[in-house]
Amino acid sequence: MTTTLFPPSPTTLGIERQVAGNVRVIETISQCATALDAARAAGLSVGLVPTMGALHAGHCSLVERASAECDLVVVTVFVNPLQFGDPDDIARYPRTLESDVELAGTAGAGIVFAPPVKEMYPGFPAAVATTVSVAGLGDHWEGASRPGHFDGVSTVVAKLFAMSGRCRAYFGEKDFQQLAVVRRMVRDLSLPIEIIGCPTMRDEDGLALSSRNVRLSSDQRRVALVLSRSLRAGAALIARGEGRAQVIEDAMARVVAEEPSVDLDYAAVVHADDLRGVASIRPDVAIRLLIAATVGGVRLIDNLDPRAHSAERTPPPMSSATDPKGIS
Ligand code: AMP
Repeated sequence: MTTTLFPPSPTTLGIERQVAGNVRVIETISQCATALDAARAAGLSVGLVPTMGALHAGHCSLVERASAECDLVVVTVFVNPLQFGDPDDIARYPRTLESDVELAGTAGAGIVFAPPVKEMYPGFPAAVATTVSVAGLGDHWEGASRPGHFDGVSTVVAKLFAMSGRCRAYFGEKDFQQLAVVRRMVRDLSLPIEIIGCPTMRDEDGLALSSRNVRLSSDQRRVALVLSRSLRAGAALIARGEGRAQVIEDAMARVVAEEPSVDLDYAAVVHADDLRGVASIRPDVAIRLLIAATVGGVRLIDNLDPRAHSAERTPPPMSSATDPKGIS
């Protein structure tokens, strides 16, 4: 699909653009809410896919699933300043709206909601007075290393849900803790949103697709494969009957240590529902392996359901996908 934005790149609020392929690019909350209300009034179901843009095949898998299950899909593209602690991280976050619109349209989206920061936070950069915080779930793992991160995520997602109204919302298991936080927020606040978790898309060598991968050199990208290797090593131990979480976590950490340039944050066996650490694995309790590490200054996360993944499989791909933008 050849897509051109017209009129060219407006920067003021309130301008709605129409692009080829029937994707509407909307920049204001009120216009987006009106469009979704109108769709529901016409009997259409709405699917929402929140993203920070720089779309890759992982995002597109969410959009494709949403468009298979919903009549109108809105992809939101917003690099949310509230969830970044490190100013350098947000400054370097890739922004590729034009190709995002094209990819979202190709995957089946009808609307791309891409608001300027002042539309989402009119007082920005002043602090937002009202925020959403999911106690407990958001405090560990990513929350511990990135204080305030999940409050930022919950707040922006709550705002997107307030705009979207009743819908299905699609999130990737790639951000497993985020998915758990959002599910809990929806439950606690009785929001009229059905949360759908979607599997992690990977490159054929096992690296989980991430918008941050573009910041890795080819050498760092090769080194980053140690994360998925570590998860598979943990899953292999479990498949062989190891039930002690500490033994599994130590084995995962040893795999990461094979790459001295990788700085491991955590490699953990957790309960799949509330992400509490487990001491020993029980067959009747769903668990998840989580990992986070920094490679060349880039923070990467990954996770695996050890029971769904047959760890003995070689070569390594778990679920694989090609990256339409080559930004793996
Ligand atoms: P982000 O733009 O990184 O905030 O991600 C937007 C959504 O896409 C989140 O629900 C992510 O979990 C999901 N996502 C990111 N990477 C992947 C992937 N490799 N596979 C599946 N979903 C993904």
